[in-house]
Amino acid sequence: MRDVFVTIVLAAASMFAVHAQRQVAPPVTDPNDPKFITAQTRKMGGPMPPEQLALIFEHLDLAMKVFPDQQRIEATATLRLTTKSKIDTLVLDLFSKFTIAEIDVEGTRMPATAYANPEGQLRITLPAPLAAGKTFEARVVYAGTPPVAKRPPWEGGTTWTKTPDGTKPWIDTSLWGGGCDMLYPCLDHPTLKPATSDLHYTVPAGLMAPGSGALVSREDKDGWTTWNWHARSIHTYGSVLDVGPYKVMEGEYKSRFGNTIPMRFYYLPGEERQAAELFAEFPRTLEFWENVIGPYPWADQKMGVVRVPYSGLENQTMIGYSDQYPKTPFGWDWLLNHEFSHEWFANQLSVANYDDLWLHEGLGSYAQPLIAEYYGGEIDYMAQLKTQRAGIRNEQPLVTGRERSEKEVYADPTGPRGDIYPKGSWVAHTLRQLIGDEAFFKAIRILVYGRPDPKPGNFAPQFGTTQGFLKIVNEVTGQDYKWFFDVYFYRAALPKVIATRHNGVLTLRWQTPDDLPFPMPLDVRIDGKIVTLPMRDGRGDLPAGDHAAVTIDPRSKILMQSDAIDNYQKWTAAQAANARR
Ligand SMILES: [Zn+2]
Repeated sequence: MRDVFVTIVLAAASMFAVHAQRQVAPPVTDPNDPKFITAQTRKMGGPMPPEQLALIFEHLDLAMKVFPDQQRIEATATLRLTTKSKIDTLVLDLFSKFTIAEIDVEGTRMPATAYANPEGQLRITLPAPLAAGKTFEARVVYAGTPPVAKRPPWEGGTTWTKTPDGTKPWIDTSLWGGGCDMLYPCLDHPTLKPATSDLHYTVPAGLMAPGSGALVSREDKDGWTTWNWHARSIHTYGSVLDVGPYKVMEGEYKSRFGNTIPMRFYYLPGEERQAAELFAEFPRTLEFWENVIGPYPWADQKMGVVRVPYSGLENQTMIGYSDQYPKTPFGWDWLLNHEFSHEWFANQLSVANYDDLWLHEGLGSYAQPLIAEYYGGEIDYMAQLKTQRAGIRNEQPLVTGRERSEKEVYADPTGPRGDIYPKGSWVAHTLRQLIGDEAFFKAIRILVYGRPDPKPGNFAPQFGTTQGFLKIVNEVTGQDYKWFFDVYFYRAALPKVIATRHNGVLTLRWQTPDDLPFPMPLDVRIDGKIVTLPMRDGRGDLPAGDHAAVTIDPRSKILMQSDAIDNYQKWTAAQAANARR
């Protein structure tokens, strides 16, 4: 998911002029508007009913026929599920405005009196309880108009439009800010994504329906074409329904790991020039990722991008991208890189609880300084970080340790909102400076792949948590970094350096929220010489005359409170308020 803040900053002609205007994603408006989605359908993750937590989602088979002129779908979803404990009701998430024609469980047709879906949670009373350990199939036949996307990519849904030349249907579904239940019956919790999926999109002949995963086949019959896709472990918001007169740009990437990655760009006719420009970025982006983080997790499927009618979104193996590729002084496409980061930080490594969403967006955002460093060196790395630093608000902690829905984290004032992007990135930067490159990247690889030595075929999708990451960091370093996590993730305010000079001695002390211990080593440049204070008890002294030249943290290693940033944010907020008057 792209961040508005990043968009504004990098799209702006002046890199530092406007970045504090808006650093959080726009609030999700009218969640109860009946034309769109109910609060239940809007919700992704968070506490789930016990009947859903009792399930494992083995396989999704989704056959969907799309009628562009009627802005309507007819679909059959077959879910293969396994019970972890006994259930007597099957609870599936599904947009409540769809008309349900038929539900079968284990091949038995359910009477219409056995199910109801008033608010977006379909409750099916089973004829007999299903015991623990039972694998069964539920089939839902339904039809209707999926909820309309209000402001994709932030407020998702379906967009029914025409190609830019006005001649052909062009349909896109963005599932962020609503999830899978806007399109098909599912379990809208990150831990309940289906292990495998078969997707069959039937569209009028002449149109293409690019999908997540690998293209298995296409079938033409009676003026309709069915596009069949097979995918693994698609995130609950990661599948796509895109329909248009697409053309395909194809290439193969020879990986450093010995495999070949198919590259596919589904673009619109007449946009060949733009498409070629973006397509040229694919191998460069792959090169950075595979060299710095590790193997592309979906090489058996593709690196896929599809042209969509909004900026961009991280659809799994089918990133949505507009035809606007904003240029920056850095020389690589930042939005492609950001959305592509989610193939690692979201799709391969998924949060088990949206409370830890910084693992997707913060590590995804840290990929920007990293690719900047890879292609442009130190100045580009630092420039990216400085821009991100100005957007950190510190209004709420990044993580609470509670089960939270995506909205509570991403959109509510009670959550960290936009901070999951730049603050997550800066915490990663600070951790890297503290533990060193070798330990940092090893910890990231274990977090992402579940092992330090990933190669194609030797890893499976992972679920991550903040506490799990702490455990990995501790194991890799042989130290206990609980103090680091306590301050940066579980407190809103940043640590602050208090510096005092007295009788030729410079005294430095860490001030932390709740006086938490913070033994963060601190570099000080004093008259041109850098000294590292261990700060084991949170303080340190140095000889310094009254006129000594002192710079604290001269290599910008540490995320800490800054008067310059605070004053700048206040000033830009006042400017914005004046402009509204
Ligand atoms: Zn994102």
